[in-house]
Amino acid sequence: MIKQDYKSSSKRRTLLHEPIFHHIRLRWGEITAVAVGILLLGLALSSGEDELEDAGVTEEELAEIPQEERSEPVFTSDAERIPLAINWDSTSSSTPDVLEPERPPLPTDTIQRVSVEIKSGDTLSSIFKKQGFSPRDVYNVTQNKTAQSILRKIRPGKTLVFEASEDGTLEHLYYQLSVNETLQVTRVEDGFDAEVKKRPIEKRQAFASGIIEDSLFNAGKQAGMSDGLIIKLANIFGWDIDFVLDVRKNDSFALIYEEKYLDGEFIGNGEILAAQFINQGDVFRAVRYKDSKGDENYFTPTGKSMRKAFLRTPVNFMYISSNFNPRRFHPIQKRWKAHRGVDYRAPTGTPVYAAGDGKVTASSYNKYNGKYVFIQHGNSIVTKYLHLSRRAVSYGKRVKQGQVIGYVGSTGMSQAPHLHYEFVVNGVHRNPRTVKLPEAQPINKKEEPLFEQKTQPLLASLNAYQRLIANNSEG
Ligand SMILES: [Zn+2]
Repeated sequence: MIKQDYKSSSKRRTLLHEPIFHHIRLRWGEITAVAVGILLLGLALSSGEDELEDAGVTEEELAEIPQEERSEPVFTSDAERIPLAINWDSTSSSTPDVLEPERPPLPTDTIQRVSVEIKSGDTLSSIFKKQGFSPRDVYNVTQNKTAQSILRKIRPGKTLVFEASEDGTLEHLYYQLSVNETLQVTRVEDGFDAEVKKRPIEKRQAFASGIIEDSLFNAGKQAGMSDGLIIKLANIFGWDIDFVLDVRKNDSFALIYEEKYLDGEFIGNGEILAAQFINQGDVFRAVRYKDSKGDENYFTPTGKSMRKAFLRTPVNFMYISSNFNPRRFHPIQKRWKAHRGVDYRAPTGTPVYAAGDGKVTASSYNKYNGKYVFIQHGNSIVTKYLHLSRRAVSYGKRVKQGQVIGYVGSTGMSQAPHLHYEFVVNGVHRNPRTVKLPEAQPINKKEEPLFEQKTQPLLASLNAYQRLIANNSEG
């Protein structure tokens, strides 16, 4: 089961990158945001597959390491894999120097410094050996718990930096954990000390806005947004707006988001703090709020949760919107009455999501539906997903909202790759695009004053920015 999940997630990753990265050059800093976006879509990779075995660490020793120390900087590792698919342009080639480990000044005539890129199949022991260090050194370094917990999970493609004195004694070892964190191992009298050096990330607010001509994707790019930021924006409104079928020319968006800087250099986008989307004249606004328990979520300006029981779009819109054809909108909607479902035309392999939490009540094949999945949500609602090329869940399994349950295809009675989606309430087919659903829960009464206090300035800024843009474009 785990193996299967991994396979499907790596497949999704490949598919997702292809259309997005094909024709776009990214700034270095945006890559982190892309990685974040990919994670948001639930595409976090299984982290176990690429880890290297480390000699000398037993299961018992591992069990002693607290869980939080074992967890990996997933964002960074994803971010660092992505550049392989990208052609750097000359203006951005200088930025990866943030990857160089921070190190104390040392007299260079006595210290020899070697950077080793970790290859697939390497172990800590094999790398040490190749650099002329002994098994004793490996042992001594990994006696330090901090060093051990990190170095047992070194990854291909990352770098280990060794510094040795003139006689070949290992003095320092560096391993970069994330864009601003480096493990620094230092020889001391009775072994090695290790600590993770962390440089502070500065967050600045930025604003972006755009008017949609043909797709959210293109308008977002035009506004200077990274792919990750576009995905985040769509996810905020994904319970209210169907980004495949609802979006129209002249829809517009505006957002305030965080930009992250390290030593004054842009390294990537952070979270969206406030956003607005106008869809066919309807204004949707959202603001990010961290409640007193520390949970961060998006709310309407009056404090209702943006999160709802059903997603509007049961497919990944990023596969579709980049080659979006406005002519295709209306005919699809008109077809609803004829066949009691909504069709999403999308390339074969486009991930299909569970619209809400539920239980799989069918995962099967017949000559009409092709490969299909039905999900029961509570007592009264069933959603149906037909003509899949592949199913990703089996009968009886519980699924979470947004979980991939299959992939678009053209199996059964189908003429072109598409998802046929049905929404059934108490046995009656309803149009999922217009059906009234329960209102989202409002924010806790006790939180209201704090919510007001924290979110009003953001919403005011969003308004002010938009006025500024409007005035500039008029003049
Ligand atoms: Zn259909």
